[in-house]
Amino acid sequence: MIETSSHPLTELLSIGSFGVSLYIAWQILTLKSRVLVWRERLAFVALTLCIAGQQLCYAYIMPSSDLALQSTVMKCQTALLPFLLISLFLFIAYYSRQKRIHPWAIGLSIACAGLFLANMQGPLPLRIGSQVSYEPALLPWGQTVYMLRGAPGDSGLVALALGLGLVGWGWSRCSAMRQSGRRQPATLLACALALPTLTLAGEWLLASPLLYWLDTSGLSLFMMALLMSQAVVREQAQPTSDKDSSSSSVLDSPPANPQWDIVLDQAPACMQVLNLNGRVIKTNQASRRYWKRDLCDDEQDFLLNLLELQDLDLEIYFADLPEGEHRDFATLRLEQGKEYGGLVPDRTRWLKFRAYPLRSDDGATLGVVIYHIDVTNEYNAETAIREIARGLSDSYGSQFFDNLVLTMAKLFNAKMAFIGLQTHKGSWNQITTYAICSDGQIIENFTYDLADTPCENVVGRQTCVYESHVQQLFPEDLILQDLGIESYIGTPIHDPDNQPIGIMVVVDTKPLTQVNQVQEILEIFAARAGAELQRQSAESSMRQMAYQDYLTRLPNRALLHEHLRNNLEHCRTQGKGAAMYLLDLDHFKTINDTLGHDVGDEVIRGVGRRLREHLDDSIFVARMGGDEFVVVQCCEPDQEEIQAREMADRLIALMTKPLQVGDRLLNAGCSIGVVLYPDDLPTHRPTELDLLRFADIALYQAKNNGRHQYVVFRSELQDKINDRIQIERGLRDALEHDGFELHFQPQIRSSGELVGVEALLRWNRADGRPISPACFIPIAEETGLILKLGAWVFSAAFKQAALWQAQGCCPKRISINVSAWQFAQNDFVEQLMTQLEQTAVDPSRFVLELTESALLQDVPETISKLKLIRRAGFQISLDDFGTGYSSLAYLKDLPLDELKIDKSFVDELTQGTSQPLLESMIAIGQHMHLGVIAEGIETEQQRVQLELMGCHIFQGFLYGRPMPAEQLQQWMTDSPSKIQA
Ligand code: GH3
Ligand code: MG
Repeated sequence: MIETSSHPLTELLSIGSFGVSLYIAWQILTLKSRVLVWRERLAFVALTLCIAGQQLCYAYIMPSSDLALQSTVMKCQTALLPFLLISLFLFIAYYSRQKRIHPWAIGLSIACAGLFLANMQGPLPLRIGSQVSYEPALLPWGQTVYMLRGAPGDSGLVALALGLGLVGWGWSRCSAMRQSGRRQPATLLACALALPTLTLAGEWLLASPLLYWLDTSGLSLFMMALLMSQAVVREQAQPTSDKDSSSSSVLDSPPANPQWDIVLDQAPACMQVLNLNGRVIKTNQASRRYWKRDLCDDEQDFLLNLLELQDLDLEIYFADLPEGEHRDFATLRLEQGKEYGGLVPDRTRWLKFRAYPLRSDDGATLGVVIYHIDVTNEYNAETAIREIARGLSDSYGSQFFDNLVLTMAKLFNAKMAFIGLQTHKGSWNQITTYAICSDGQIIENFTYDLADTPCENVVGRQTCVYESHVQQLFPEDLILQDLGIESYIGTPIHDPDNQPIGIMVVVDTKPLTQVNQVQEILEIFAARAGAELQRQSAESSMRQMAYQDYLTRLPNRALLHEHLRNNLEHCRTQGKGAAMYLLDLDHFKTINDTLGHDVGDEVIRGVGRRLREHLDDSIFVARMGGDEFVVVQCCEPDQEEIQAREMADRLIALMTKPLQVGDRLLNAGCSIGVVLYPDDLPTHRPTELDLLRFADIALYQAKNNGRHQYVVFRSELQDKINDRIQIERGLRDALEHDGFELHFQPQIRSSGELVGVEALLRWNRADGRPISPACFIPIAEETGLILKLGAWVFSAAFKQAALWQAQGCCPKRISINVSAWQFAQNDFVEQLMTQLEQTAVDPSRFVLELTESALLQDVPETISKLKLIRRAGFQISLDDFGTGYSSLAYLKDLPLDELKIDKSFVDELTQGTSQPLLESMIAIGQHMHLGVIAEGIETEQQRVQLELMGCHIFQGFLYGRPMPAEQLQQWMTDSPSKIQA
């Protein structure tokens, strides 16, 4: 151990430079810089920390006289050297924007790793290889220091060579930096690199121990870091306005190339070339015209501020952008009247900006091109379309077209806008407006001739624009003259099949501006209007299909309901009256059955046509279905009944006229049910269904009254219907609960002997009141209950006969009425036989009374049925003889036993009018060997007269009324002489 005297100056210098180095590292790390990127910062910080570490080591080495300690600390100091070299390389490479760094960085790292290992493995630090000495040195202020010295070994020489090579390469980078316009930092960096070189050389050449204390290499590295930091800080301080007039970088003053200048100048977009500092160094004519100045003259970063790029490093911002691509910026809005770097837009403008980097051959970013176009028109058109579309999205039908013309006129600030559809009048083409607005109001539609109007050139052709003086061009167009129209733009409307259907027009009293924009929008919405018109037409044909009768093309039942509903409401609110006529063709089935359905259809078509042609347009005519038509007519107040009767007569007369179908003339008369509404109806607030129900009741009545007539609905008719419904209900109930009974009316021979009885159906209401069969039998027939009723009658008659037989007092014969419906059943005979078997009565006691209408429906079938019945033992009587056709041709073929003369002939006997008829009817019976019986005999005179004519069997009140079975027995007991069991 050698005694040394410590001196504070040595430590102060080392510790001071250590502290300052740390400060520099901190300053660079926290520097707000758009010039220095992170990789440069990190490299520089690493470099400064290595230097700081070295300086700290000096603080230990210099005052120490302990050889071992000095050797160890020196080793640590030298260990920092490889890291120092690598960080120095990286910093210079990044800072000077050196391309393709990696291979060099890897090579250097390998070399430095070797140096590091050599330093750590050897007994001595890297810088001392041989001739090691530990010498005292007396410093000027009397201090003696001992320093480990020696000639550098191989590793030391490698380190020295690497250091010198690095410095040499660093200078070449400084030169590249100067060329790219970074003159000042390049100079400072070159000076910084010169310092360690000079001190190294000085130390080498002089090798004076006097300089030991300065430790020139460490200090020079420290000074290098200081200078480098200054280069960075100063460059940051002048980021974008490196206005060094002496600078002559490529992009600050791009080399003039007249051909490329022409290309640039004639580009329609506004183009600006910026250097990496954000300064505009070149513009084209479009830019100068747009901004009304050359942006190269701007002191401020106008463009960068506009695009909010002022805080960005342009090089980095575009670094990862692939070649051939650009960056898009949001469309910028320049407000009308606001100032933008001296430009004050006359109206709100929209600018679309784009930018791309300019790169050198080796890929280095040299600058940026920013270009923009004015997209105000496109933007406005888009906005307009969006606005119109928004305004139209909720509307449909005519509202859609009203909205469309209103919006168009508003959007273009035009006097008038309209949509017109093509119509024809003779050979003249016309336009009828479909929706039109003038001065912001929807006005009434009108029709005008196309000839000599600008629209003539539009219909079916293409868009026509007359920017001004349209009046002078079309002096014959009076509308243009009247409205003082100056400009015109019209576009054709086509349907989806490209067939012209109309036009869409905007006219104004001022010359037209923004023609392209108006035209574009007009064409878009003409297409939309065409589609909407098509949709409407499809809707209307669908509606037509849903509401039209396929056969007559008249409104169908659905539309009739809708019309009646609306008409009822209208009558109610307006206090008016109306009449509805329900027409039903008489015996239409006969036409169908005899002439076929085709002819039937033709008749229905002809009736529909006739009704529509002969009735006023204000009168609604519909086909209900089948052979039913409905006519609805509004009436004058208090004239409803008169008008309705007039109309009903007219309709009957109209329908009575023969109808030509093919070469036939057919008569299709009708019956009509008339309803007057809304007053005097049984329902307080009738619905359309009520009206149809009432009309049906009236029609039913008209049919019942004999057809070919009309009946006006009255509440009494409703009562009748109600009664009918009650009867039907009662019939069903009675059938279910055995509510009928049979009465028997005696049939007496002229000698006074009881020939037999006629079984007659009787029915009492729940309250015990009897209901006439004349009232309930037709209802039973209409409802089909007659079949069950007929079966009940047979069953009851057979049972009663069985009872009488058992009692030994059965009349010789019992007549039973058989309805035509019952007889027409295919299995009538079988049913009869079955019932007969069930009671085991003698069929020869029974006479089945059938009317002509029952027997003559299907004569061959009737004959075979009658034969079967007679073969079983029954007798057959032709009931109501004389009231029907009495077709002798058929009668002679029918297997009958008896003719029964109807009461109506007997009634007339007293008046002495029907004797010849009666005589011949009786004669027919006798001639055909049939028994003849007369019913309805009430007086002795009638009996006498009939007897004189040859009729010997009678039935009627003269002998006895129809009576219950028990009463009949009593009757027989009271008159035993008349009974022959
Ligand atoms: P009424 O005098 O009581 O009215 O008797 P009708 O023969 O006219 O018969 P009704 O009115 O009860 O029935 C109408 C008939 O019209 C029933 C059906 O066979 C026929 N029909 C219904 N629709 C059509 C159709 O579209 N074409 C043809 N040809 N016939 C139809
Ligand atoms: Mg009919």
